Amino acid sequence: MSKVYDVVILGAGPAGLSAALYAGRARLSTLLIEKGQDGGQIAITDDIENYPGSPNAEPGPVLIGRMSAQVERFGAERVKDTIKSVDLKSNPKKITCVNGEYLAKSVIVCTGAFPKPCGAENEGKLTGKGVSYCATCDANFFEDFEVYVVGGGDSAIQEALYLTKFARKVTVIHRRDELRAAKSLQEKAFANEKMEFMWNSQILKFNGDDILTSMEVKNTKTGEITHIEADPDDGMFGVFVFIGFNPRSELFEGQLDMENGYILADSDTMATSIPGVYAAGDVRKKSFRQVVTAAADGANAVHSVEHYLSELK
Ligand code: NAP
Repeated sequence: MSKVYDVVILGAGPAGLSAALYAGRARLSTLLIEKGQDGGQIAITDDIENYPGSPNAEPGPVLIGRMSAQVERFGAERVKDTIKSVDLKSNPKKITCVNGEYLAKSVIVCTGAFPKPCGAENEGKLTGKGVSYCATCDANFFEDFEVYVVGGGDSAIQEALYLTKFARKVTVIHRRDELRAAKSLQEKAFANEKMEFMWNSQILKFNGDDILTSMEVKNTKTGEITHIEADPDDGMFGVFVFIGFNPRSELFEGQLDMENGYILADSDTMATSIPGVYAAGDVRKKSFRQVVTAAADGANAVHSVEHYLSELK
Protein backbone atom coordinates (compact mmCIF):
# COMPACT_ATOMS: atom_id res chain seq x y z
CA MET A 1 0.00 0.00 0.00
CA SER A 2 1.23 3.52 -0.77
CA LYS A 3 2.64 5.61 2.02
CA VAL A 4 0.14 7.94 3.68
CA TYR A 5 1.92 11.18 4.60
CA ASP A 6 0.89 13.17 7.65
CA VAL A 7 0.85 16.21 5.42
CA VAL A 8 1.32 16.89 1.73
CA ILE A 9 2.16 20.48 0.81
CA LEU A 10 1.24 21.66 -2.68
CA GLY A 11 3.62 24.31 -4.02
CA ALA A 12 7.08 25.51 -2.96
CA GLY A 13 6.72 29.29 -2.80
CA PRO A 14 7.36 31.08 0.51
CA ALA A 15 4.16 29.64 2.04
CA GLY A 16 4.93 26.05 0.99
CA LEU A 17 8.60 26.26 2.00
CA SER A 18 7.68 27.70 5.37
CA ALA A 19 5.06 24.95 5.87
CA ALA A 20 7.59 22.26 4.87
CA LEU A 21 10.15 23.69 7.30
CA TYR A 22 7.68 23.73 10.19
CA ALA A 23 6.25 20.29 9.33
CA GLY A 24 9.71 18.74 9.02
CA ARG A 25 10.78 20.30 12.27
CA ALA A 26 7.63 18.94 13.96
CA ARG A 27 8.70 15.46 12.76
CA LEU A 28 5.57 15.03 10.65
CA SER A 29 5.99 12.76 7.63
CA THR A 30 5.92 15.50 5.02
CA LEU A 31 5.89 15.62 1.23
CA LEU A 32 6.37 18.87 -0.68
CA ILE A 33 5.22 18.78 -4.32
CA GLU A 34 6.45 21.44 -6.77
CA LYS A 35 6.31 21.30 -10.55
CA GLY A 36 8.96 23.91 -11.34
CA GLN A 37 11.52 25.93 -9.47
CA ASP A 38 11.10 26.92 -5.82
CA GLY A 39 9.93 30.40 -4.95
CA GLY A 40 6.81 31.09 -7.00
CA GLN A 41 6.56 34.80 -7.77
CA ILE A 42 9.58 35.52 -5.58
CA ALA A 43 11.77 33.51 -7.92
CA ILE A 44 11.12 36.25 -10.49
CA THR A 45 11.34 39.24 -8.13
CA ASP A 46 14.37 41.47 -8.40
CA ASP A 47 14.94 43.00 -4.98
CA ILE A 48 13.39 42.00 -1.68
CA GLU A 49 14.24 44.50 1.01
CA ASN A 50 11.47 44.02 3.53
CA TYR A 51 11.83 40.40 4.63
CA PRO A 52 12.70 40.53 8.34
CA GLY A 53 16.22 39.39 9.09
CA SER A 54 17.47 40.17 5.58
CA PRO A 55 18.74 43.74 6.05
CA ASN A 56 20.12 44.24 2.56
CA ALA A 57 18.01 44.24 -0.61
CA GLU A 58 18.63 40.88 -2.26
CA PRO A 59 17.32 39.05 -5.33
CA GLY A 60 14.27 36.83 -4.68
CA PRO A 61 16.10 33.63 -5.70
CA VAL A 62 18.78 34.28 -3.04
CA LEU A 63 16.20 34.51 -0.27
CA ILE A 64 14.39 31.46 -1.65
CA GLY A 65 17.66 29.52 -1.84
CA ARG A 66 18.08 29.96 1.91
CA MET A 67 14.48 28.88 2.55
CA SER A 68 14.92 25.72 0.41
CA ALA A 69 18.16 24.83 2.21
CA GLN A 70 16.40 25.22 5.55
CA VAL A 71 13.60 22.88 4.43
CA GLU A 72 16.17 20.28 3.42
CA ARG A 73 17.80 20.49 6.82
CA PHE A 74 14.57 19.51 8.58
CA GLY A 75 13.89 16.46 6.44
CA ALA A 76 10.70 17.04 4.42
CA GLU A 77 10.55 14.76 1.38
CA ARG A 78 10.25 16.50 -1.97
CA VAL A 79 9.05 15.52 -5.44
CA LYS A 80 9.10 17.48 -8.69
CA ASP A 81 5.75 16.68 -10.25
CA THR A 82 2.72 18.37 -11.79
CA ILE A 83 -0.59 17.92 -10.02
CA LYS A 84 -3.40 16.77 -12.34
CA SER A 85 -6.25 16.35 -9.87
CA VAL A 86 -7.00 16.14 -6.17
CA ASP A 87 -9.59 14.35 -4.08
CA LEU A 88 -9.62 16.30 -0.85
CA LYS A 89 -12.83 14.87 0.57
CA SER A 90 -11.62 11.24 0.67
CA ASN A 91 -9.61 9.90 3.62
CA PRO A 92 -6.74 9.62 3.03
CA LYS A 93 -6.75 12.55 0.64
CA LYS A 94 -5.47 11.78 -2.84
CA ILE A 95 -3.19 13.93 -5.00
CA THR A 96 -2.80 12.62 -8.54
CA CYS A 97 0.25 13.90 -10.40
CA VAL A 98 1.75 13.19 -13.81
CA ASN A 99 4.29 10.77 -12.31
CA GLY A 100 2.41 9.24 -9.40
CA GLU A 101 -0.31 9.36 -6.79
CA TYR A 102 0.28 10.61 -3.27
CA LEU A 103 -1.85 10.00 -0.17
CA ALA A 104 -2.16 12.31 2.81
CA LYS A 105 -3.95 12.66 6.13
CA SER A 106 -3.85 16.41 5.64
CA VAL A 107 -3.07 18.82 2.80
CA ILE A 108 -1.78 22.40 2.74
CA VAL A 109 -2.54 24.22 -0.52
CA CYS A 110 0.21 26.76 -1.31
CA THR A 111 -0.19 27.02 -5.06
CA GLY A 112 0.10 30.83 -5.17
CA ALA A 113 -0.98 33.12 -7.95
CA PHE A 114 0.20 34.10 -11.46
CA PRO A 115 0.39 37.48 -13.21
CA LYS A 116 -2.80 38.95 -14.66
CA PRO A 117 -2.74 39.83 -18.35
CA CYS A 118 -3.70 43.42 -19.22
CA GLY A 119 -6.30 42.22 -21.72
CA ALA A 120 -5.01 44.03 -24.82
CA GLU A 121 -5.54 42.44 -28.24
CA ASN A 122 -2.60 40.20 -29.31
CA GLU A 123 -1.21 40.07 -25.75
CA GLY A 124 -0.88 36.26 -25.80
CA LYS A 125 0.62 36.24 -29.29
CA LEU A 126 3.34 38.76 -28.34
CA THR A 127 4.13 37.41 -24.88
CA GLY A 128 7.85 36.65 -24.88
CA LYS A 129 8.17 38.77 -28.04
CA GLY A 130 8.12 42.17 -26.37
CA VAL A 131 5.38 41.62 -23.78
CA SER A 132 6.63 40.34 -20.43
CA TYR A 133 5.49 39.75 -16.85
CA CYS A 134 8.97 39.41 -15.33
CA ALA A 135 11.53 42.20 -15.27
CA THR A 136 14.20 40.03 -13.66
CA CYS A 137 13.85 37.50 -16.48
CA ASP A 138 13.63 39.86 -19.45
CA ALA A 139 15.10 43.27 -18.54
CA ASN A 140 18.46 42.55 -20.16
CA PHE A 141 16.77 42.03 -23.55
CA PHE A 142 15.86 45.73 -23.42
CA GLU A 143 19.27 47.21 -22.70
CA ASP A 144 19.08 50.80 -24.02
CA PHE A 145 15.59 50.29 -25.55
CA GLU A 146 12.35 52.01 -24.57
CA VAL A 147 10.03 50.09 -22.29
CA TYR A 148 6.55 50.61 -20.88
CA VAL A 149 5.25 49.30 -17.58
CA VAL A 150 1.53 48.72 -17.04
CA GLY A 151 0.16 49.23 -13.50
CA GLY A 152 0.39 51.61 -10.59
CA GLY A 153 0.92 49.31 -7.58
CA ASP A 154 4.07 48.34 -5.66
CA SER A 155 5.05 45.69 -8.21
CA ALA A 156 4.71 48.02 -11.20
CA ILE A 157 6.71 50.84 -9.65
CA GLN A 158 9.36 48.63 -8.09
CA GLU A 159 9.90 46.78 -11.35
CA ALA A 160 9.81 50.03 -13.37
CA LEU A 161 12.62 51.37 -11.18
CA TYR A 162 14.57 48.17 -11.77
CA LEU A 163 14.03 48.48 -15.52
CA THR A 164 15.60 51.97 -15.51
CA LYS A 165 18.91 50.19 -14.92
CA PHE A 166 18.57 48.66 -18.40
CA ALA A 167 16.20 50.68 -20.59
CA ARG A 168 16.93 54.23 -21.74
CA LYS A 169 13.35 55.30 -20.93
CA VAL A 170 10.63 53.67 -18.83
CA THR A 171 7.06 54.93 -19.21
CA VAL A 172 4.47 53.82 -16.69
CA ILE A 173 1.00 53.40 -18.21
CA HIS A 174 -1.59 53.64 -15.47
CA ARG A 175 -5.37 53.54 -15.78
CA ARG A 176 -5.85 56.31 -13.17
CA ASP A 177 -4.06 59.59 -12.44
CA GLU A 178 -2.69 58.46 -9.09
CA LEU A 179 -0.41 55.58 -8.12
CA ARG A 180 -1.40 52.93 -5.62
CA ALA A 181 2.25 52.12 -4.79
CA ALA A 182 3.82 52.94 -1.39
CA LYS A 183 4.80 56.60 -1.05
CA SER A 184 8.50 55.72 -0.70
CA LEU A 185 8.43 53.97 -4.09
CA GLN A 186 6.48 56.85 -5.64
CA GLU A 187 9.10 59.33 -4.43
CA LYS A 188 11.88 57.27 -6.03
CA ALA A 189 9.91 56.95 -9.27
CA PHE A 190 9.07 60.66 -9.58
CA ALA A 191 12.71 61.54 -8.89
CA ASN A 192 14.06 59.16 -11.52
CA GLU A 193 14.98 61.02 -14.70
CA LYS A 194 14.46 57.96 -16.88
CA MET A 195 10.83 57.54 -15.82
CA GLU A 196 7.74 59.04 -17.44
CA PHE A 197 4.03 58.53 -16.83
CA MET A 198 1.01 58.14 -19.10
CA TRP A 199 -1.95 58.74 -16.81
CA ASN A 200 -5.56 57.56 -17.37
CA SER A 201 -4.34 55.20 -20.04
CA GLN A 202 -4.99 51.64 -21.08
CA ILE A 203 -3.37 49.57 -23.85
CA LEU A 204 -5.98 48.37 -26.33
CA LYS A 205 -3.87 46.51 -28.86
CA PHE A 206 -0.33 45.27 -29.42
CA ASN A 207 0.96 45.09 -33.01
CA GLY A 208 3.75 43.09 -34.57
CA ASP A 209 4.32 39.70 -36.16
CA ASP A 210 7.42 38.23 -34.56
CA ILE A 211 8.13 41.13 -32.25
CA LEU A 212 6.24 44.02 -30.63
CA THR A 213 6.61 47.04 -32.91
CA SER A 214 3.68 49.31 -32.01
CA MET A 215 0.60 49.60 -29.82
CA GLU A 216 -2.62 51.56 -29.40
CA VAL A 217 -3.21 53.26 -26.05
CA LYS A 218 -6.56 54.75 -25.07
CA ASN A 219 -7.01 57.73 -22.77
CA THR A 220 -9.77 56.52 -20.45
CA LYS A 221 -10.96 60.08 -19.74
CA THR A 222 -11.04 61.55 -23.27
CA GLY A 223 -11.30 58.36 -25.36
CA GLU A 224 -8.39 59.57 -27.49
CA ILE A 225 -6.27 56.78 -29.00
CA THR A 226 -2.49 57.23 -29.18
CA HIS A 227 -0.48 55.10 -31.61
CA ILE A 228 2.95 54.30 -30.13
CA GLU A 229 5.54 53.13 -32.61
CA ALA A 230 9.00 51.69 -31.89
CA ASP A 231 11.87 54.07 -32.53
CA PRO A 232 12.95 53.22 -36.11
CA ASP A 233 16.54 52.67 -34.95
CA ASP A 234 15.33 50.14 -32.35
CA GLY A 235 12.63 48.40 -34.38
CA MET A 236 10.99 47.18 -31.16
CA PHE A 237 10.16 48.07 -27.57
CA GLY A 238 9.08 46.25 -24.43
CA VAL A 239 5.92 46.23 -22.34
CA PHE A 240 6.02 44.83 -18.82
CA VAL A 241 2.63 44.13 -17.22
CA PHE A 242 2.32 44.24 -13.41
CA ILE A 243 -1.36 44.60 -12.55
CA GLY A 244 -1.80 41.96 -9.90
CA PHE A 245 -2.30 38.24 -9.92
CA ASN A 246 -4.80 35.46 -10.52
CA PRO A 247 -4.86 32.65 -7.97
CA ARG A 248 -3.81 29.13 -9.01
CA SER A 249 -6.85 27.39 -7.66
CA GLU A 250 -8.59 25.69 -10.63
CA LEU A 251 -7.63 22.23 -9.29
CA PHE A 252 -9.70 22.82 -6.17
CA GLU A 253 -12.85 24.20 -7.82
CA GLY A 254 -15.98 22.35 -6.69
CA GLN A 255 -14.19 21.05 -3.58
CA LEU A 256 -13.03 24.07 -1.60
CA ASP A 257 -15.08 27.21 -0.97
CA MET A 258 -13.69 30.19 -2.89
CA GLU A 259 -14.30 33.84 -3.71
CA ASN A 260 -13.12 35.18 -7.07
CA GLY A 261 -10.86 32.14 -7.33
CA TYR A 262 -9.18 32.75 -3.97
CA ILE A 263 -9.60 29.92 -1.44
CA LEU A 264 -11.55 30.89 1.64
CA ALA A 265 -9.60 29.89 4.75
CA ASP A 266 -9.70 30.96 8.37
CA SER A 267 -7.18 33.77 8.84
CA ASP A 268 -5.91 32.26 12.09
CA THR A 269 -5.92 28.50 11.43
CA MET A 270 -5.78 28.52 7.58
CA ALA A 271 -8.55 25.88 7.70
CA THR A 272 -10.59 25.61 4.50
CA SER A 273 -14.13 24.28 4.08
CA ILE A 274 -12.80 20.67 4.18
CA PRO A 275 -11.44 19.29 7.49
CA GLY A 276 -7.72 18.51 7.24
CA VAL A 277 -7.23 20.84 4.26
CA TYR A 278 -5.51 24.21 4.74
CA ALA A 279 -4.65 27.07 2.38
CA ALA A 280 -1.61 29.32 2.83
CA GLY A 281 -0.08 32.23 0.95
CA ASP A 282 -1.35 34.10 -2.10
CA VAL A 283 -3.90 31.46 -3.14
CA ARG A 284 -5.89 32.27 0.01
CA LYS A 285 -8.29 35.20 0.21
CA LYS A 286 -6.43 37.80 2.27
CA SER A 287 -5.72 41.50 2.25
CA PHE A 288 -1.92 41.66 2.32
CA ARG A 289 0.17 39.45 0.05
CA GLN A 290 3.82 39.56 1.03
CA VAL A 291 6.61 37.02 1.48
CA VAL A 292 6.39 37.50 5.23
CA THR A 293 2.61 36.96 5.35
CA ALA A 294 2.90 33.87 3.11
CA ALA A 295 5.60 32.43 5.38
CA ALA A 296 3.43 33.14 8.42
CA ASP A 297 0.46 31.39 6.76
CA GLY A 298 2.61 28.30 6.18
CA ALA A 299 3.65 28.15 9.83
CA ASN A 300 0.07 28.67 11.04
CA ALA A 301 -1.22 25.94 8.73
CA VAL A 302 1.25 23.40 10.15
CA HIS A 303 0.28 24.36 13.68
CA SER A 304 -3.32 23.54 12.70
CA VAL A 305 -2.27 20.29 11.00
CA GLU A 306 -0.59 19.12 14.21
CA HIS A 307 -3.79 19.78 16.13
CA TYR A 308 -5.89 18.03 13.44
CA LEU A 309 -3.64 14.94 13.41
CA SER A 310 -3.72 14.65 17.20
CA GLU A 311 -7.54 14.66 17.08
CA LEU A 312 -7.51 11.88 14.45
CA LYS A 313 -5.66 9.50 16.80
P1 NAP B 1 -1.79 45.71 -6.69
O1 NAP B 1 -1.30 46.38 -5.47
O2 NAP B 1 -3.12 45.04 -6.67
O3 NAP B 1 -1.76 46.80 -7.86
C1 NAP B 1 -2.25 46.48 -9.12
C2 NAP B 1 -2.13 47.72 -10.00
O4 NAP B 1 -2.54 47.37 -11.32
C3 NAP B 1 -3.01 48.86 -9.54
O5 NAP B 1 -2.36 50.09 -9.77
C4 NAP B 1 -4.23 48.71 -10.46
O6 NAP B 1 -4.84 49.94 -10.78
C5 NAP B 1 -3.64 48.18 -11.73
N1 NAP B 1 -4.58 47.32 -12.45
C6 NAP B 1 -5.32 46.28 -11.99
N2 NAP B 1 -6.04 45.71 -12.97
C7 NAP B 1 -5.75 46.41 -14.10
C8 NAP B 1 -6.17 46.31 -15.45
N3 NAP B 1 -7.03 45.37 -15.85
N4 NAP B 1 -5.66 47.20 -16.34
C9 NAP B 1 -4.78 48.15 -15.96
N5 NAP B 1 -4.35 48.31 -14.68
C10 NAP B 1 -4.83 47.44 -13.77
O7 NAP B 1 -0.79 44.56 -7.20
P2 NAP B 1 0.80 44.45 -7.04
O8 NAP B 1 1.45 45.73 -7.31
O9 NAP B 1 1.18 43.27 -7.86
O10 NAP B 1 1.00 44.08 -5.53
C11 NAP B 1 0.36 42.93 -4.96
C12 NAP B 1 0.66 42.88 -3.46
O11 NAP B 1 2.05 42.62 -3.27
C13 NAP B 1 0.34 44.20 -2.77
O12 NAP B 1 -0.14 43.92 -1.48
C14 NAP B 1 1.67 44.88 -2.70
O13 NAP B 1 1.77 45.79 -1.62
C15 NAP B 1 2.61 43.68 -2.52
N6 NAP B 1 3.96 43.98 -3.03
C16 NAP B 1 4.85 44.50 -2.16
C17 NAP B 1 6.12 44.80 -2.58
C18 NAP B 1 7.09 45.37 -1.58
O14 NAP B 1 6.72 45.48 -0.44
N7 NAP B 1 8.28 45.72 -1.92
C19 NAP B 1 6.48 44.62 -3.92
C20 NAP B 1 5.54 44.10 -4.80
C21 NAP B 1 4.27 43.80 -4.35
P3 NAP B 1 -5.72 50.74 -9.68
O15 NAP B 1 -4.72 51.37 -8.77
O16 NAP B 1 -6.48 51.70 -10.53
O17 NAP B 1 -6.59 49.72 -9.02
